[in-house]
Amino acid sequence: MERLTERIRTTALDAGADLVGVAPISRFENAPPEFHPRAVFPPTRTVVAIALRMARGTLKAVEEGTYWQAYNCDSYWHMNEVEAPQILRRICVALEQDGYTGLPVHNPFQPHLGRRIREDNPLGPDGICSLRVIGVAAGLGEFGMSRFLLTPEYGPRQRIFAVFTDAELVPSPLFKGSVCDECLACARECQAGAIGDERTEVVTIDGRDYRHAPLDTTACARIQTGHDPRFSPFRTGEEEEGRQPAYNRFIQEKFHHSGIICAGRGCIRACMDHLEKTGRIAGRFHTPLIEGERWKLDQPPGGGEDR
Ligand code: SF4
Ligand code: SF4
Repeated sequence: MERLTERIRTTALDAGADLVGVAPISRFENAPPEFHPRAVFPPTRTVVAIALRMARGTLKAVEEGTYWQAYNCDSYWHMNEVEAPQILRRICVALEQDGYTGLPVHNPFQPHLGRRIREDNPLGPDGICSLRVIGVAAGLGEFGMSRFLLTPEYGPRQRIFAVFTDAELVPSPLFKGSVCDECLACARECQAGAIGDERTEVVTIDGRDYRHAPLDTTACARIQTGHDPRFSPFRTGEEEEGRQPAYNRFIQEKFHHSGIICAGRGCIRACMDHLEKTGRIAGRFHTPLIEGERWKLDQPPGGGEDR
């Protein structure tokens, strides 16, 4: 078990993962049935989580208000659609060498569009899981107030992916430290007002309670994808009804997603900046993420929110 665990860890790191953690299936016993790893892959005994960092410059350029494409390509499309699948595949192949089976679990999901097949599954295929919970269960970090996984290496600046396997591997210890100091920069700087300010949501893993604030995902989605001309430089407020701005259409055509415009103004960028400046995470950089006043748009022609 130790030898295989080490080989899987080395395979993942050599393939380009920044962090690797291992969660035994017992750590998901409190998961809602529709989010349980076995609803996706019934033979699962272990979940291997990997974290890939987003290149810091892709966030810095959005923070400067000068360049969104690197985030949309590199930190979203390429990580999700190219880099992670390659690393997960390498892990699966390494498991097969010892006679085990691995299932790569990518992001994003399109869950439960199919009809239910199995009695023991609460919903139809495809199943879904929470990659941020998997990250915590695999010992990579904790939840910030924002609900994001925060790691001591990168704060909120990573994406998580997973392999579900029938192999039993040596579990990684749960993260016992604290990265989030409840500064509330995430909630203050979120233009959707989507992040709560009290840790009322609880996820229990191995008897330990991890808490975060509630997140209004509907409010977030509108700002995140640039539906509100007050906060998206790519939407003038004069688009024809139901018509996406030219930039979102370009991103859709080229990278097959609807376009990320907010890029975590509160939940990633303000949080990262706070954690970097207070030395609560590992990285030290020559250029601060946030320098001076943050950009703000003039009211667009047509004004107000485009509903
Ligand atoms: S911004 Fe502050 S309160 Fe919010 S998750 Fe980061 S450290 Fe925690
Ligand atoms: S992505 Fe933007 S809108 Fe959504 S929670 Fe984060 S800061 Fe708020």
